[in-house]
Order: sequence, then C-alpha cells, then structure tokens
Amino acid sequence: MSHVAFEDPALPRPGRAVHARRRIMLLGLTPEQLEERLESAARARMVTRVLAEGRDPRSAEDVPAGVRARLATATTWTPHRIARHDVAEDGTEKLLVDLSTDAPGREVETVVIPTERRATVCVSSQVGCKRRCHFCLTGTMGLRHDLRADEIVLQVWLARQLRPIRNVVFMGMGEPLDNFEAVAQATRILTHDRGFGLAPRHVTVSTVGPSPEAVRRLAALDTRVAWSLHAADDDVRARIIGTHKHPVAALRDAFFEVVGKAPLFVEVTLIDGANDRDEDADALARLFEGAPTEVRFNLLPMNPIGNALGPSARVDAFASRLKASGFFTSVRRTRGDDSRAACGQLYATPRARRAPAARPV
Ligand code: SF4
Repeated sequence: MSHVAFEDPALPRPGRAVHARRRIMLLGLTPEQLEERLESAARARMVTRVLAEGRDPRSAEDVPAGVRARLATATTWTPHRIARHDVAEDGTEKLLVDLSTDAPGREVETVVIPTERRATVCVSSQVGCKRRCHFCLTGTMGLRHDLRADEIVLQVWLARQLRPIRNVVFMGMGEPLDNFEAVAQATRILTHDRGFGLAPRHVTVSTVGPSPEAVRRLAALDTRVAWSLHAADDDVRARIIGTHKHPVAALRDAFFEVVGKAPLFVEVTLIDGANDRDEDADALARLFEGAPTEVRFNLLPMNPIGNALGPSARVDAFASRLKASGFFTSVRRTRGDDSRAACGQLYATPRARRAPAARPV
C-alpha cells in the first residue's frame, strides 16, 4: 500500500480529521495515480474510460462488480448537487454546482457553450475571486474558497453528460493562478490520453497575470495560455482590473517566456469610454510590436452586470484598428447573457439576481 500524503490535490484541505485512504477523490486522480490505488492498469483503464464518457463508474453496468467494490474501498466521489440548471435562448447552459458538503458556501457556476460541432465548457477554479475586476460580477464576491482538482474536473464530467465537449476554458469564476496546484492537476487529468483525452490545444487557461513570477508557473502546463489584459496602458488598466501592481511590459515578457513559439491569446473586454478608444487599440499594437510569436486578440464587449459600466459600441472599429496593425483579431459573440451565463456575469448565489454595485471606473 502506498503512502498517501495530504498534499495530494485529490484530497480535501488539511485540518479535517479524515482517513486519507478513504478520502481519495476519484475525479482528482491522474490515470497513473488511479492505477496505483486500484493496483491494476486494466481496472484503471476501464474506470477512466467510463469517467471520460461522463458516466459514473460506481454504478455503470459495464464495470464489473469487483472493480466497483475496489473503487468503493480505494476512492470516494466528489460530493455535489446541481442546485440550478438554466438554458439561455441561444442554447448556452449554466449549472450552479453545489459542492458544500465539506464546507458551506462552496457553490460554483459552470457554463456549457454549444457550437456548430462540439461544445466548450467554461469551468470555475475558485468560489469567488480576490482580484475584483470592475467589469466582473465574480470579483464583487471576494475570494471564498479555492476548488480542489476533483471539483474542477467534476465540472467537465457534468458537462459531458449534457453534450460532447471539445474545449475547456478556465474562464469561469476565479483566477487560475491563485489556485495553481489544483488547476495544474486538473489540466493533467483533462489532457491525459488515458484520462479525459482533450487535446492540450483545446484547453485554455486564462489569467489576468497577477505577477511575472505567477505567470512563469504556467510553463509547467501543456495547455494554451490566454492573458486577460484589457488595456496596454498601465493607468488605463489600473482603472479596470483589481490587479495592477506589476507593469504590463514585465507581464508581457513573462507571457512570452511561457508560450515560446505557441500563439499568445490576448483578451480585451471593451468597456464604453474606459478602454475602447483608438489610442487604446494603438497602445495594444505598440505593446506587441515585434513580438517573438503570434499574438491573437480576442475582443469581447463587456456584459452588463448591473453597475455603471456598459458595453462598448466601438468593438468593430477597435477590431479593424488592430487588424490594420497586422494582428489576428476576433470578436467573441456574447453567449448566454439572458441567463447571466456570459463572461463576467458569474455569481454563485441567488444574490446574482440583485447584482451588487461595482466600483466605478
Ligand atoms: S475577471 Fe477573472 S480575475 Fe477578474 S475578478 Fe473576474 S474572475 Fe477574478
């Protein structure tokens, strides 16, 4: 029997008097770790295949009773409940996942966005977020809890019950670099060819870039990296997001170190009168002039969250200006805004229906 340390990301937080061997969360294990627990490569393969299909191996009829019994002694299941399931007019689905068996208040929102072929699931990495970006409802919650790896993987498992999933984006509630170990473990499980089997290029970790040191940790991941930049000018950016201690140029250099020759995806939420002027587009173009790799802009008109800030009407003009400077630029269509499932609108309690006022820009 192998020793199981409490640092295992599949385990609950330290401080709870539980028996480690009984508390291994199945969804937080890589295929290798599961093989070790089940003491059989064949059993582990069978279980991971069933998990990747969005099914529960504890009750799946095609999993032999002996394997199910072994699972029951070697692992446990992530306690959860679907507290709400909304479907927007455009087909976007939002799940409110209640994880609060271990600690009250652990609720997160997960969004499943259908596309023509396969769907994208937007997962949360934290309950709330301490970064407090001014256009984001999640930021008004403050940080309440970090999620464990199994709680992140659970969201993809639940999404696979709704639709075939091709892409996973860490753009839900929370700043992934503020909960890096759990996010890293979840990406290992999701991209493992014997796990959920997602192509690394179909998994994107999106971050505001809390510091150059934090950004450099992304080098440990195989996934795509997206920078929620929003403005190239330090003063303009400081009025939009809550994290602006480090100069944009230093963060940019760290992102380039991490992505190497892969493209760097840069997200810009356009807010009326705040960061949508021609000079803001030109500042972005200057910041990435002579970049060592391809930079791709993704523009998103801000989604209303009930405060004084509003969506820019200049998205097309802004995109044209970046394209004229030679940058690939796409505009993300707002999805699911009639069920508050759009970017920046996630807030995991019924209080979402009376959105708190955010600080003005
Ligand atoms: S935009 Fe992201 S980093 Fe900013 S407050 Fe919202 S969840 Fe946190």
